[in-house]
Amino acid sequence: MTEKIRVRFAPSPTGHLHIGGARTALFNYLYARHNNGTFILRIEDTDRTRSTDEYIEAIIEGMKWLGLGWDEGPFRQTDRFDVYRSYVDRFIKEGKAYYCYCSAEELDERRKLAMAMGKPPKYDGRCRDLKGPVPGVTPAVRFRMPQSGQTIVDDLIRGPVTFDNAQLDDLIILRSDGTPTYNLTVVVDDVDMKITHVIRGDDHLNNTPKQIHVYKALGYEVPKFAHLPMILGSDKTRLSKRHGATSVMAYYEMGYLPDALVNYLVRLGWSYGDQEVFSREELVKYFSFENVGKAAAVFNPEKLLWLNGQYIINSPSEKLAELVMPFLIREKTAGEGQDIDMAWLSKAIGTLKERSKTLVELANSLRYYIAEEVEYNEKAKEKFLNEKSRGLLTELKDGLDSLPGFSHEGLEKAFKSVVEKHGVKLKDLAQPVRVAMTGGTESPGIFEVLEIVGKEKTIRRLEKAIKACM
Ligand code: GLU
Repeated sequence: MTEKIRVRFAPSPTGHLHIGGARTALFNYLYARHNNGTFILRIEDTDRTRSTDEYIEAIIEGMKWLGLGWDEGPFRQTDRFDVYRSYVDRFIKEGKAYYCYCSAEELDERRKLAMAMGKPPKYDGRCRDLKGPVPGVTPAVRFRMPQSGQTIVDDLIRGPVTFDNAQLDDLIILRSDGTPTYNLTVVVDDVDMKITHVIRGDDHLNNTPKQIHVYKALGYEVPKFAHLPMILGSDKTRLSKRHGATSVMAYYEMGYLPDALVNYLVRLGWSYGDQEVFSREELVKYFSFENVGKAAAVFNPEKLLWLNGQYIINSPSEKLAELVMPFLIREKTAGEGQDIDMAWLSKAIGTLKERSKTLVELANSLRYYIAEEVEYNEKAKEKFLNEKSRGLLTELKDGLDSLPGFSHEGLEKAFKSVVEKHGVKLKDLAQPVRVAMTGGTESPGIFEVLEIVGKEKTIRRLEKAIKACM
């Protein structure tokens, strides 16, 4: 039997879930789902000065919104300090770690000196072989790294990466205040949680050889590693706030669909032929590290916007109606608690899907369907609500008024009769009507708009427009 795959997403809650973190979470999630494995969420909050409960909530909110459900957790490292300390004790007893009495100031001074002499700023090993404690000093604990030979990280994406052990620092695993450090806690947890694959950003690649020695010291088989290529902004520097929104929930706010963002994120490093749009099932089915590239990925907001537009076009209108509701209120298209018929809203959305790239755009376009009155764009009003169109609009209004229903066919007939009588083109009538109905000069087909707005409101809008003609 093959081993059961167990992976984890291990964010430090020192900020919101951002694009890079979400991509790491997604690749872990997909790898687990593809292999019927287990996906664990572990909150690495040992840095108590920078971690907050709000950020933990925000990360969880982001993962839930993206639909990246986990199977175990969330675990919190701050709940496990006793466990880490017991491993530190064990290392001390086994001679795999030692007490270090050097003060922060001393270390700093020696680091500066080493750098001034062109040497790597590595711990000089002064306390490695101390025979007894230094009275009056509370020590930190350092892990004893090998000082010669090489460590090879056999990465699933990059292949073997070799490190000289002489470069490896004797890590501090317990600070003198008794708190454990990242390179210890991450390994202890991976061991306790039986992690088989460590999938994370390649900013951690330099930590990996050190961690490999900690796994070994614990007598645990070293997990497989996949270090994901960096994500860059358009100027080819590391993606950051300078490049625009990087927090996942900011994309919710901007009206992106979670599936569109997931689809975009997966393409930051992974590909499957030329295919761009993937369902969740396809992603789970196709995902593997063979198709993850080594090269850094460039974050392209225009492409994300395009993809979101594709997802909007391809989503059922009923689903969009649900999703757009909070945006209708936020954009003041509808009032809080306003009664909107969902079937009617879906129909209205059906006419706008192809023109809206975000839910925010959709909410704004729905304004002229939902509002009691429309406001005219000044230029549109000037151009189309004039002396000439007054007669056309008046006749059309009378024609519509006498229609028994408000079907597409009836509307078409009413328009035709005005157009024919005056020997004008359909658009000469349609444009003033469009301004009357929507306030502007761009909208879906005019019959569709009228049908959805309905007879009563249409007549009222035409009456108002007729009055505005001068
Ligand atoms: N907590 C680390 C971070 O947020 C991740 C550690 C890991 O995945 O091994 O960068």
